[in-house]
Amino acid sequence: MQPIQNLYTKLSTPCKVVITMHQKPDGDAMGSTLGLYHFLKQFDHEITVISPTNWASFLNWMPGCDKVLDYEVQTDKSNKIIDDADWIFCLDFNTLSRTKRMEEKLVNAAATRILIDHHQQPQVEVFEYGISDTAKSSTCEMVYDFIINAGQGDKINVEVAQCLYAGVMTDTGSFRFPSTTASVHRMIADLKEKGLEHSIVHENLFDNFLESRYRFIGNILSNRMEIFYEYNTALITIPQSDLIKYDVKTGDTEGLVNFPLSIKGIKLASIIIDRGEERKSSFRSKGDFDVNTFARKYFNGGGHFNAAGGFNKEPLEVVVDKFKKAMIENREQLSTYQF
Ligand code: 5GP
Ligand code: MN
Repeated sequence: MQPIQNLYTKLSTPCKVVITMHQKPDGDAMGSTLGLYHFLKQFDHEITVISPTNWASFLNWMPGCDKVLDYEVQTDKSNKIIDDADWIFCLDFNTLSRTKRMEEKLVNAAATRILIDHHQQPQVEVFEYGISDTAKSSTCEMVYDFIINAGQGDKINVEVAQCLYAGVMTDTGSFRFPSTTASVHRMIADLKEKGLEHSIVHENLFDNFLESRYRFIGNILSNRMEIFYEYNTALITIPQSDLIKYDVKTGDTEGLVNFPLSIKGIKLASIIIDRGEERKSSFRSKGDFDVNTFARKYFNGGGHFNAAGGFNKEPLEVVVDKFKKAMIENREQLSTYQF
């Protein structure tokens, strides 16, 4: 993988560009791809943003989101665009398997693949150019750095600023995680100076939920959360019947894992959701418990040191049992309360 700086001189030559992100894109995945889209558009490239799957409706306000293709719905059209592409930017993921059904298409694409990402253990051999930095708060911060380091800061308009802000804000838990460096705050100051109205972004993201989501959360916290105080661990288990009963949509479960993480003494918070085709899990930790390794070892997953996820094909009870055994296996690390 060549350093991303080698791309700077090629930026101004118009070409066909695809920008993609991980499946079920979150604020950082959608924000970074659309932020890059609004930046690159200014060089007259022909650009298409393709999401491997659908996404949460609370992201629909982002400028350009209405033009994003859902690979699972518009497969033929997306395949043709990928076949014709010169460049494929891969943002907020680092192994092609994170693009689900799009993986095969990306593996065989003739286009130049470019990585911008902050997750651990990148599959560097599949990218021609790229930057991977696990110290970065978000992929949006990395897209901002990319634009600034290319000497193109004057091309950060309000659309770019809104998209990038949304991703940095959500990936840092509203600027509270340790990844929120002084550079992050300097970046936000710069975006503000370029016309960003941050409170509108917060309203768009957090004040548009339906009543049913809060009824669902009430049920989860009352009936589906177990606390294992001796292991400083919490687990939320959601059967598929709850998703149906409360009409839960993509994105409605995002952030739920943070509820038990804010209980005093909890070091590992987990959620396992039966999504029908698979059991999807999310892990969050405080302090020295490495959930990236935990997710890799037991749940076919990965992510960051303090935030990771995975999936299993076994039935829900089997996965929950696996979790409890894994918790006991990691007893020594978990039972010491050391933040
Ligand atoms: P979340 O729990 O919000 O879905 O994901 C937390 C972090 O772990 C994110 O950075 C996400 O990209 C990563 N992650 C979630 N699920 C998976 C997975 O199945 N595989 C890998 N490698 N990473 C995941
Ligand atoms: Mn991210």
